[in-house]
Amino acid sequence: MTEPLISLAGLRRDYASGDGTITVLKDVDLTIERGEMVAIIGASGSGKSTLMNILGLLDRPSAGTYKISGRETSTLDNDDRSALRREHFGFIFQRYHLLDEISALSNVEIPAVYAGRDRSQRRERAAALLGRLGMADRTEHRPGHLSGGQQQRVSIARALMNDADVILADEPTGALDKASGEEVLRILDELHAEGRTIIIVTHDATVAARAERIIEISDGRIISDTRSAAHQPQVHQPELRHAAPANRVGAGLDRFREAFLMACKALKAHRMRSFLTMLGIIIGIASVISVVALGTGSQQKVLANISSLGTNTLEVFPGTGFGDMRSGRVKTLLVSDADALAKLSYVAAATPTVSTSTTARFGAIEANALVNGVGSKYFEVKGSKLVAGRFFDDAGVQAMEQDAVIDENTAKTLFGGDTTQAIGQVFLAGSVPSRVIGVISSQQGGFGSSDNLSIYMPYTSVQTRFTGDQSLRSITLRISDDADTSVAEQTVTTFLTGRHGTKDFFVLNTDDIRQTITSTTQTMTLLIGAIAVISLIVGGIGVMNIMLVSVSERVSEIGVRMAVGARRQDILQQFLIEAVLVCLIGGVLGVALALLFGFTFSLFGSSFSLVFTAAPIVLAVVSSCFIGIAFGYLPARNASRLDPVAALA
Ligand code: ADP
Ligand code: MG
Repeated sequence: MTEPLISLAGLRRDYASGDGTITVLKDVDLTIERGEMVAIIGASGSGKSTLMNILGLLDRPSAGTYKISGRETSTLDNDDRSALRREHFGFIFQRYHLLDEISALSNVEIPAVYAGRDRSQRRERAAALLGRLGMADRTEHRPGHLSGGQQQRVSIARALMNDADVILADEPTGALDKASGEEVLRILDELHAEGRTIIIVTHDATVAARAERIIEISDGRIISDTRSAAHQPQVHQPELRHAAPANRVGAGLDRFREAFLMACKALKAHRMRSFLTMLGIIIGIASVISVVALGTGSQQKVLANISSLGTNTLEVFPGTGFGDMRSGRVKTLLVSDADALAKLSYVAAATPTVSTSTTARFGAIEANALVNGVGSKYFEVKGSKLVAGRFFDDAGVQAMEQDAVIDENTAKTLFGGDTTQAIGQVFLAGSVPSRVIGVISSQQGGFGSSDNLSIYMPYTSVQTRFTGDQSLRSITLRISDDADTSVAEQTVTTFLTGRHGTKDFFVLNTDDIRQTITSTTQTMTLLIGAIAVISLIVGGIGVMNIMLVSVSERVSEIGVRMAVGARRQDILQQFLIEAVLVCLIGGVLGVALALLFGFTFSLFGSSFSLVFTAAPIVLAVVSSCFIGIAFGYLPARNASRLDPVAALA
């Protein structure tokens, strides 16, 4: 044994205080051999704990060297230092520093979790250690349900969990009654007898008297170092092999599992706060999913309506476009145009339309109605569905018959529910007596005409009996099935411009409308979705805020974990898991809320429907995970960067 276990030379520790620095340890030289039992005594504030923290690699000296078995410690990185703490040092604190949320057994297990030891082995060993310290019947108790002496025994078991060969005890009896204190000292004697190195800090001379060597510190300097008995070099025979665990992936998973369980316990311990934190995410996710579902639903609905308007159709209107105020006065679109257009090769059918609004009367019932003057092909072009009766034919158009096809709305309004009863009835459209020959199903939504009463009569009748002029409201063209609508639109435009000598009309293509509506609803969905995403971000900031609070509340827990050997990575992982868990649960609840909302909506509102698809739901859940990572990272990193000494203070 050439190198001493511990050797300090010229060690100094300064603290910044106010404008200057105060030096707490001044030029300390000290060697401690393996197997010694050393008491460090001194008045309160003399620097004992500071020295102890440096010895335990919780703190770094400001100057001087600290060698463990001849190995300089100043060059070690954080992970090396936590590995040394984990494998070689066992800490016993005055205030026990146990974790309140978990059982005594789980507390004892922690160092082995970070060391990556097998789960069943570590449980067995933790139980055995507790048994040896007379705590066999208290393994499942929470620290809060144990007396001070029992808690200190749990903390001793924890210090022994990884078979530490150096026990650092800072005032281990300071908070205990005499009998419990005596018991703790007896255990320390026993551990010493096994060959472990014991360093015990105390301000109690009778406690110190049990050690074979007493070092006295005053005002940061060693003022005496006395041995009461010759040191019998004695080497602790390790009970555990400090070999790396066989299965690194398994150990990593196990640490993840433990961090996950801890995160669950932390969430459970603060149920209300966790729920309120989640609320932002819940609302954000629920609104994203509902908005997307509403967008999908209304788009499907509108597209279905357009399909009911007929596919492959072009509508020709007078004027320059929808908004043109003069279009009502442009009288250049004529029946002869419709006849000429019908002869084009692309055009399968052409039907002129005129329209006027008037009052329909039947008996005492009066209602406003739109009278559409149409050709016999109109119903075919539009794909109208006949509910009862028949359509009028070319002969009827030629003869300007006063026959009317009415929609179901009109039939209901004028003749009551039964549509077949309407057939053959004569009513007044304005002052024109008209006979009902057919009923068609009403057009749904689409262009806002669902509640209007629509009456269809031969356009010749409407022109002569209602409007009194030859101009048309529109011409509806059905394009041949094999023709391309945009090519047909081009041809129609060129042809009609040539015929009129000027372009005093515009052509509406249902394919265009379909595309416009699709892209409009997509834009709307995107826009509202963006707002929902902002609310998600706000939710994420809420999560970050609470995680910061949680970290600052649990500083001492973090310190304990670091003291027993947690790597920075372990602490980071634990808090990150907690943040992700909050967001993930929030996300899942948000999805559930959206589905519930959709279900409720389908019960009450009939005019809109929410259509849920898998992609946005999966995306929402995945993105809530990302929110957890993104907004949990900063607090988790703060936690992992904490200084163990400051955390334990
Ligand atoms: P002991 O354990 O012997 O009672 P400590 O080692 O805890 O004493 O403290 C020694 C001195 O160092 C005290 O005067 C204390 O105020 C000071 N001290 C300890 N920690 C800090 C710190 N983080 N910043 C400034 N001063 C500190
Ligand atoms: Mg102290």
